[in-house]
Amino acid sequence: MHEARTAPLIAAIANDHDMACRACGAPVRETLVDLGMSPLCESYVAAEDVDRMEPFYPLHVFVCERCFLAQLREYVSAEAIFGEYAYFSSYSDSWLRHAEEFTAMTTARFGLGPKSRVVELASNDGYLLQYFVRAGIPVLGVEPAANVARVAEERGVRTLVAFFGPDTARQLRSEGWSADLMVGNNVLAQVPDLNGFVAGIKIGLADHGVATLEFPHIVRMIEENQFDTIYHEHFSYFSLSTVASLFDRHGLTVFDVEELATHGGSLRVYARHAEDTTQPIGPRVGELLEREERLGVGTLGYYRTFAERVKETKRKLLEFLIDAKRRGKRVVGYGAPGKGNTLLNYCGIRTDFVDFTVDRNPYKQGRFLPGTHIPIYPPERLEEARPDYVLILPWNLKDEIVKQLAGIRAWGGQFVVPIPTLQVL
Ligand SMILES: [Zn+2]
Repeated sequence: MHEARTAPLIAAIANDHDMACRACGAPVRETLVDLGMSPLCESYVAAEDVDRMEPFYPLHVFVCERCFLAQLREYVSAEAIFGEYAYFSSYSDSWLRHAEEFTAMTTARFGLGPKSRVVELASNDGYLLQYFVRAGIPVLGVEPAANVARVAEERGVRTLVAFFGPDTARQLRSEGWSADLMVGNNVLAQVPDLNGFVAGIKIGLADHGVATLEFPHIVRMIEENQFDTIYHEHFSYFSLSTVASLFDRHGLTVFDVEELATHGGSLRVYARHAEDTTQPIGPRVGELLEREERLGVGTLGYYRTFAERVKETKRKLLEFLIDAKRRGKRVVGYGAPGKGNTLLNYCGIRTDFVDFTVDRNPYKQGRFLPGTHIPIYPPERLEEARPDYVLILPWNLKDEIVKQLAGIRAWGGQFVVPIPTLQVL
């Protein structure tokens, strides 16, 4: 007698323990992409620690079937990630230009002056608020990483070392710091308690205040294969529709949106109190919501082709590197951004393919990339090494870097950009 074979002999092992959606609370089970195990992408390894054990965490992104927020579990607490942070915004020329333009634009559009209050959430090293200070507008930064906040204070940007949420917002309010402009650039994605953060904006905003938030647009990530913008620090990946409904639940209305080129394609949303009708809702909001709907961001099908494209990118990059090494070519990296660490760890690229990388940030120089242990040198090292290929890790700054490093052409050097598809320039 044979038993009926109705079930597989061995059940599949699944990583499907329950997670509630960070935005709407629905159970989250659908995988967007699984990048395996990776170290924290900003935990650059000092020379004396290079032989020590290094923690790796899952980099597995899910998507909520109800509100379509793509999200990581909080594998590592925000306190552990942001307590001592190596990301200093001021080391990118184009990012500083972006900040200066933002200051001029918002000052004019919202009539900011010496009586206004500008509060920035996750103000980093003061890269943005310094321009408001120069314009004579009172500022306050809120920044959880004490080492980064110290740098801001040194350049005259008053900074409160704290995570932002309802408590911090109430504290600011009671100290007369209700914000006429509240800025959060590239922080929304990094907030584990999304609802607490948005509730804080509601509390901290003056009656006619405006909050602007910039975050990478998930539509660009998916359409342009930017999977390396996934890292443990980025808990959430947003569409406009996800953000608009999240804000709506907290009594805030998105009244304008801009599409920006930064970080591979970001959105800047403008929000105000739902009850403040002095800022009418502009046409760009409806237009983008409609476009997202046409693309299908409100259906699971939209998210289901991404994982295979990610795997193909890995195969293409490895194919190129294997071929280059077989031809005896020398490959080095440029930059040591967080996204580079996701890419290199996911693809398993170490000094077997890339001899070293260079970065302008002195904090990173002399250290090693997390996980892959590729050494980081100052940019001058490129000149000495005369590599055949320079792998550009911060591909979002590709044009700036190709211009800056035009000198490598003198010895026949070429640039390699891995994303969205491998390109040799
Ligand atoms: Zn949800």
